[in-house]
Amino acid sequence: MEHNLFIYNTLTRRKERFIPLNEPYVGMYVCGPTVYGDGHLGHARPAITFDLLFRWLQQSGYKVRYVRNITDVGHLEHDADEGEDKIAKKARLEQKEPMEVVQYYLNRYHKAMEALNVLPPSIEPHASGHIIEQIEFIKQILDAGYAYISEGSVYFDVRKYDHDHKYGILSGRNIDDLLENTRELDGQQEKHCSLDFALWKKAQPEHIMRWPSPWSDGFPGWHLECSTMGTKYLGQQFDIHGGGMDLVFPHHECEIAQSTAALGHESVRYWMHNNMITINGQKMGKSLGNFITLDEFFTGSHKLLDQAYAPMTIRFFILQAQYRSTVDFSNEALKASEKGYQRLMEAYSRLKSLKPAATSTVDVKDLRAKCTEAMNDDLNSPIVISHLFEAAKAINAVADGKATISAEDLEELKATYKLFVEDVLGLKADAAEGSSSTSDAYKKAVDLLLNIRLEAKQNKDWATSDKIRNALQAAGFTIKDTKDGFEWSL
Ligand code: ZN
Repeated sequence: MEHNLFIYNTLTRRKERFIPLNEPYVGMYVCGPTVYGDGHLGHARPAITFDLLFRWLQQSGYKVRYVRNITDVGHLEHDADEGEDKIAKKARLEQKEPMEVVQYYLNRYHKAMEALNVLPPSIEPHASGHIIEQIEFIKQILDAGYAYISEGSVYFDVRKYDHDHKYGILSGRNIDDLLENTRELDGQQEKHCSLDFALWKKAQPEHIMRWPSPWSDGFPGWHLECSTMGTKYLGQQFDIHGGGMDLVFPHHECEIAQSTAALGHESVRYWMHNNMITINGQKMGKSLGNFITLDEFFTGSHKLLDQAYAPMTIRFFILQAQYRSTVDFSNEALKASEKGYQRLMEAYSRLKSLKPAATSTVDVKDLRAKCTEAMNDDLNSPIVISHLFEAAKAINAVADGKATISAEDLEELKATYKLFVEDVLGLKADAAEGSSSTSDAYKKAVDLLLNIRLEAKQNKDWATSDKIRNALQAAGFTIKDTKDGFEWSL
C-alpha cells in the first residue's frame, strides 16, 4: 500500500507519515463521552474529527477497527480521585438507578451523533462492563512494582515510574514542576505523593457503584478504563489514540504511564488531539452559562442562539477549521456556515442535472487529486472545502450556460463530489433545511398550502390562489406550475 497520509503526532510534536502496524488493518481508539448529561458542542468536535479520520482511512483502503468507549463509572466530580461519581450523583438527584442514567443519556448521545452523520464506531465498550479486565490490569501494574495498596485503594506510583520511564512525555510536563504546582497532601495520607492517581478506589459506604476486588469493594479510577479497553480490543500495541486536547493531561498522560508500567512498553503509535471550541471567545462551562447542548443548537432553544441550526450546519462549521486549530462559535459564524453549506449543496444538486457537451471549457480534472492531497495533509478539511467551492464555480457556469463540460469530465466531477462531499466530509445532501423531522413538517406545510391553492384554481377562486402564491413568493419561495400540479423551492 502507498502510505501518503501524514498526521500530526502529539507525542513527537510533528507530522508523521502514517504507517499502520499491521496493514491494511488500523486500530483506532478515541475517548468517548461520560454519559451523565446531554451532549454539548464540546462533544461534537472530537466525534466529527475522528469520524473524518475514520472515513478517510477507509477511503484510503484501510480496514479500521474503531473503538470509542463510554465512561459510565469512575469519573468523579473533582478529579480522578476525589468527589462523588458524576453518574451516581445524577442518579441520586433523579432517584434513578445509575445504569438508567447511563442508558438515557447514551440513547440521546447516539441520536445527536446520528443527526451529525457521525458513523457509529466498530466497538463501543462500557467501562462498567470491563471491571474484571481492569482488575487484571491493576494486578499487572502491581506486579511490575509501579503501584501500591493503601487503605483498600490502589495508587499508581508516579515517582517510581518517572524514575524508570519518565512521566509527562505527552504533555511535555515534568514531575518537578508538577510537584511545585500541586497542593501538599493534606489529610489524604493514603497517597505517597500528590501526583499519584487512583487505579482502584475503595468505595465509601454511601457510594452505590461498587464491585468486589482483591483490595476492597470499590471502583476503578477513570484513566484505567482506556488503557484496559484499548489493549483488550486493539492489542498491546495499536495505531491511533485520539481525543480532545483537554484530555492530554492528566488522562492520556496517565494512560501512557499505566500501559507502559503494565506491558513494559507504550501501546500507542500515534496520538492525535483535536483543539477546543470556544463560544463567543470564552471557554465553555456550566458556570459561564454558555454550555449549549446539541439539542439546543438543533432547536434554537438557548438564550445565546438567534435561531436553530441544522446538524449539518454544525458539522460543516466544524469541518471548516482544521482539527488542530481553535474554533469559536458565534451566531454570525454559524450563519455564515449555514449559507456556505447551502451554496455547496446547491452546486451539488445542480451538478446532478448537468448535461454533457462535446468538449469542456472548464478545468475540473485535478479536483480529486487536490482534495486527496489536502486530506492526506493531516486532514485539512477547510482546504478540501475550498477546492469544492472552486469547482462549484465551474458547475454554476455550466448550469447557467456560460461554459460546457464533456461527458468524461462530468462523470469524474460527479464521482469526486460524491466522494468528498458525502463519503469523506459526511455532508448529507437531503438535510440542508434542518433536522429531518423539522424539514419533513415544513415540506408538508408548504405542500398543503399549494394544494389548497390548486383547489382554489380549479374552482376559479383566483383571489385565494393569488393570495397564497404571493405570500409564499414574498417569503422567498419559487413556485412553478406544472401540468401535474406544482413544484417549489426555497
Ligand atoms: Zn480515555
